[in-house]
Amino acid sequence: MDAKDLEFFKALLNQQLQELLQQAGNAVVRLRDSEESLADPLDRAAHEYDQNNLLRIRDRESRLIKKIRESLQDIEDGTFGVCVMCGEEIGIARLKARPVAKHCIRCKTRLESLERVVGV
Ligand SMILES: [Zn+2]
Repeated sequence: MDAKDLEFFKALLNQQLQELLQQAGNAVVRLRDSEESLADPLDRAAHEYDQNNLLRIRDRESRLIKKIRESLQDIEDGTFGVCVMCGEEIGIARLKARPVAKHCIRCKTRLESLERVVGV
């Protein structure tokens, strides 16, 4: 991967990171707003449902934020775009679809079938 590609992915990852951080900020504001009207039990149930959903989304977001930060670090370290299992290049097309990918498509496919067998 040349310097131009690395710059591209760095910008892409930074942009995704900013969007996620912004969304996380909005979610906190929504959570605070909805806590004000909890007199009605139905409202309360809806609120709990929202809150659980929100926590699940935020959990997923924070994991993605962590992955993006790791990928940005990989760019700094010069290991970005290299499969952690086999050491082959992951490939620009796959990285464009999923910039935080750590495995080439071959290893990813093998991992996924392994996960199915083990039942993870
Ligand atoms: Zn691989």
